[in-house]
Parts: sequence; structure tokens; C-alpha cells
Amino acid sequence: MPATIDLHCHSTISDGLYPPEELVAYAHKQGVKVLALTDHDDMGGLVAARKAAEQHGMQFINGVEISVTWKKRTLHIVGLKVDPEYAPLKTALDAVRQGRLDRAKLMAEGLEKAGIEGCFEGAQKIAGDSILTRSHFARFLVEAGHVKNVKTVFKKYLVKGKPGFVEHQWMSLEKCVTLIKDSGGAAVIAHPGRYDLGRINMHLLMHEFRGYGGEAIEVVTGSHNPPQYEQFATIAHRFSLKASLGSDYHGPGISYMEMGCISELPPSCVPIWQDWDEAKHLNVEAS
Ligand code: AMP
Ligand code: MN
Ligand code: MN
Ligand code: MN
Repeated sequence: MPATIDLHCHSTISDGLYPPEELVAYAHKQGVKVLALTDHDDMGGLVAARKAAEQHGMQFINGVEISVTWKKRTLHIVGLKVDPEYAPLKTALDAVRQGRLDRAKLMAEGLEKAGIEGCFEGAQKIAGDSILTRSHFARFLVEAGHVKNVKTVFKKYLVKGKPGFVEHQWMSLEKCVTLIKDSGGAAVIAHPGRYDLGRINMHLLMHEFRGYGGEAIEVVTGSHNPPQYEQFATIAHRFSLKASLGSDYHGPGISYMEMGCISELPPSCVPIWQDWDEAKHLNVEAS
């Protein structure tokens, strides 16, 4: 049986393909009962998503996925049960989004030097009111016929060492975890298996994150394979961290995993939702 909780997905507020209401309706259709919307660096979809979730009789969790720089690497930290009205968090995310705009201009300059023009305008047109991400650049490059698919664009143009890649300074890990906590939320390391960290740095990250008050890591996510579920369940246990679970769904054709199809947490994990009223029925079912 797939899990009926999903604590990580994206709408058109960031780089997902469905607007918040449609994403929630789709999650409902796919059998999800407890959903968190976690757009990149933006909490602008939470009110609409919550309203839609109420209409479908689902439980909704406020979320956000924040971009962080740690030891010169980009990490993603999911905040769950954050308060979208908490001013310091809102202000910090405004600054991150401004940084995204500056980064996008530099990305376009790099791509122009590689002979591809009009990327900033093209990506911005696709993004519309959404924040500007590498996904929008990728979609533009495919639509303009430069590359055959999004996966190839990333490989050829948008990762370290490629013309459209820009080193960017995101929020610090300490600030991110502190803001999430102070807004009443819980900080979760997103898809830890995706970072290019050796064993020593991975353990250092867990230790530091725990020290700042971080609560959980994603054990089951669309970007982990089943052996990684076990690997990160063990790491969570070792560092006294709880476990989270989320598809990281972005929409048809651009997702790591289909919504509503994700595995349950390994039984050894302590779920992040252990004490949540919204997930009481799940804990009863599990016990
Ligand atoms: P950004 O936050 O602007 O750097 O954009 C990162 C987003 O790009 C991620 O959240 C993914 O949705 C997407 N992404 C990153 N790497 C890849 C990849 N190799 N293939 C497809 N999408 C990717
Ligand atoms: Mn994304
Ligand atoms: Mn992510
Ligand atoms: Mn994500």
C-alpha cells in the first residue's frame, strides 16, 4: 500500500505545473489524505491550497522548501507547519527571491556567451508570476528547440561547470533552521541522498542541523531509491532525527515520482507527523 501522506510537492508558485488548487485536487484523486505544499522559497500558494484541501476533506500542512548554501553546496531544507505570516521568514524569503532574479540574469549572460540568446526573457515568460528557477530555463531551452528534453538541458547547460550555471549564495543553514523553528515549524533536510557529500560531510551536516534545532530528514522521497530508504532510516536513527516522506511531485512529465505512489516509511523510523493532530488517523492506522 502506498503512503497516504505526502509532505513535499510543488505548484506553479515555484516550478510545478499545476496551480495550488489543481495540485490539491490531483493529490486527492491520487488518494493522498494529508498533504504539505512546499514551493521553493515562496509561501504564496498556501492559502489557496489549504482552502482547496478543506473542500476535498483533506488535511493540509503549510510548507516551504528553502534553498541553502552549506560548505559551498546548495541544499534544500523543507519547513513544515511554518507560519506564512511570520514576518522574519517572509522578509528572508523576499530576499531569496530577489537573489533568484539576479542569479537568472547572470545565468542568461552565461548562456548568451555560449550562443543562446533571449534566455532571461524566455524563462521569465514561462515562469509568469512564479519564482524564476533553473526548471524554467530548462523548459525554455526545450521549447525554443535548443535541446530535446529537460534532463539533457540540465546536464549540458545548468549544472556546475556548464555555461548557464552560476555559483549563488543562498541562505545559511543556521538562519534557515532558526527561521523555520521560530515561525513554529519543523525543519527537514530534503532528499539528502541527492547531495554530493561524502560520509564525513553527511554526518557533519546531520550533526550541525540537529544542533541548530533541525528535526527530521526525508527518508522516503521521489529522489531516493529503496536502498537509500534504509540508508537514511539508519542515519536518522543514529542522529536522533525523525523521518519525513514526500514525492517532490512537480507535475506530469517533470517529476521524480508520481503523486500517491510513494512507499511508506521503514518501520524503524519515527515519523515527523508522530504528534500531529492532522495525521492522528495515520498513527492509529499504523499502530
Ligand atoms: P533552482 O532552485 O533554480 O536551482 O532549480 C532547481 C530545480 O530544478 C529543482 O527543484 C528541480 O525541480 C529541478 N532540477 C534540478 N536538477 C534537475 C535535473 N537534473 N533534471 C530535471 N530537473 C532538475
Ligand atoms: Mn523544483
Ligand atoms: Mn529540492
Ligand atoms: Mn522539491
